[in-house]
Amino acid sequence: MAIASTPDLFTVRSRSRSPDPAALRDTALEIHRRLCPVYGCPIPYFHSLDPVSELVSSLLSHRTRNAESGRAFKALRARYPDWKTFLDAPVTEVESLIDGVTWPELKAPRIQAILRAVRERRGSLDLDFLADLPVAEARGWLEAIPGIGPKTSAAVLAFSLLRMPALPVDSHHHRVAQRTGLIPASMDVGPSHPVLRGQLPENWNAQELYDNHEVLMLHGQQVCRHRAPACHACVLVDLCPTGQARLAERGRMS
Ligand code: SF4
Repeated sequence: MAIASTPDLFTVRSRSRSPDPAALRDTALEIHRRLCPVYGCPIPYFHSLDPVSELVSSLLSHRTRNAESGRAFKALRARYPDWKTFLDAPVTEVESLIDGVTWPELKAPRIQAILRAVRERRGSLDLDFLADLPVAEARGWLEAIPGIGPKTSAAVLAFSLLRMPALPVDSHHHRVAQRTGLIPASMDVGPSHPVLRGQLPENWNAQELYDNHEVLMLHGQQVCRHRAPACHACVLVDLCPTGQARLAERGRMS
């Protein structure tokens, strides 16, 4: 289910071929420092799911509103007493239970296939062992399964009860990172994961990385919106090339 990013009309393309990595790290930290008080770090975790449940929840949520993926997840939990029973269920039944999400006809067989792969590789439907691995190794184990990409592997480690220090990047987080110049306008969500993680201190714990993801995501949802970024009201405007360009454009037109 590879999906190309929607081109962003607002993002200013960097004029520099290779932005200074130290300057980008400083900007990433300054963005975190400014957004944390706005959105209230430390931010409470929104899920307390075991890692297999988090995997299913994350796969349901791709390109789908939270309310719809939440409804689909609850429908699966209500219908099946455990994930093993879910695996043996007819795929058409699963598809109808999750019909509010985007592409239920693709997600139903894909999620069952992924859980089957977990069971085949581990001998059981249990991902708790990932807690004993370094983050990079745990992500590699998950991403070796077809259908699991960097966003899903990071979400399983960071959002589940594993509470591991991984940095997920969703579309809102990605958009703010592009517009502020942390990543090039041409960089897709997948490759942005190691780049954005590498700009943050190596020794940050799970809560700090979770906060970083959450504040960028919330900023993307509430201020740096896809169609109407509120640059005039943004606490990042003085360090954001896109915001600067938009305000200058507005000044020229007034
Ligand atoms: S100034 Fe703020 S709202 Fe405007 S593009 Fe930059 S981050 Fe987004």
